Amino acid sequence: MSNRYSGERAVVIGAGMGGLPAAQVLADYFREVVVLERDVLPADATPRPGVPQGKHPHGLLAGGLKALCDLFPDFSSTLVQAGANSLDSGLEVCHEYPGQEPLPVRSLGVATFTMTRPLLELAVRRRVRERANVVFRDECRVVAIGATPDGNAVASVAYKTATASSKYCPLTSSSTHPVAESLR
Ligand SMILES: Cc1cc2nc3c(=O)[nH]c(=O)nc-3n(C[C@H](O)[C@H](O)[C@H](O)COP(=O)(O)OP(=O)(O)OC[C@H]3O[C@@H](n4cnc5c(N)ncnc54)[C@H](O)[C@@H]3O)c2cc1C
Repeated sequence: MSNRYSGERAVVIGAGMGGLPAAQVLADYFREVVVLERDVLPADATPRPGVPQGKHPHGLLAGGLKALCDLFPDFSSTLVQAGANSLDSGLEVCHEYPGQEPLPVRSLGVATFTMTRPLLELAVRRRVRERANVVFRDECRVVAIGATPDGNAVASVAYKTATASSKYCPLTSSSTHPVAESLR
């Protein structure tokens, strides 16, 4: 293993808005990053069962946009290419709160975007897929986490696919596959 990496393999459970940025960060430190997702990951911006709130209205606030731009350079362009609409919320959103006059309409100088939640996820997923050492395995439901014999670290992750009842993803080449804890 080259000194560039701190570990052989990292496993991310879930390709949602938590898992995708985690995979992006881990890809700098691990030779391989495996993202296990129970859903089929769609090629387009359609909702999926594992993120049921994806059908609800979502907004990406300026802080979230900045965090994504820090992780994915020029992420704003990725959003625009995916179909997101740019927005100056001070000018284009009417802010009204109970018991107060509506806030004055003025540019706050804070640009962000509106989009559906599946579109945001798709844009982030596309960027993570650009990483050569990140592997997506969809239709893989994690069912257990296996520990090292001393119980101090995770050695492997067990998952089920649509066709196989049980598979293991070891974190190192020397990992055995004891399953110490069940997720369900
Ligand atoms: C109604 C609603 C509206 C919201 N609106 C906003 C908003 O406007 N702006 C905002 O920033 N946030 C909003 N949120 C919050 C936001 O959706 C969550 O903070 C975010 O989804 C959390 O991301 P996550 O990746 O941790 O979890 P999730 O989005 O729940 O993703 C978890 C992923 O893990 C997968 N998974 C789960 N179990 C397993 C397993 N055993 N094996 C393999 N894969 C597995 C799931 O399929 C899924 O892909 C809203 C939430 C709700 C409920």
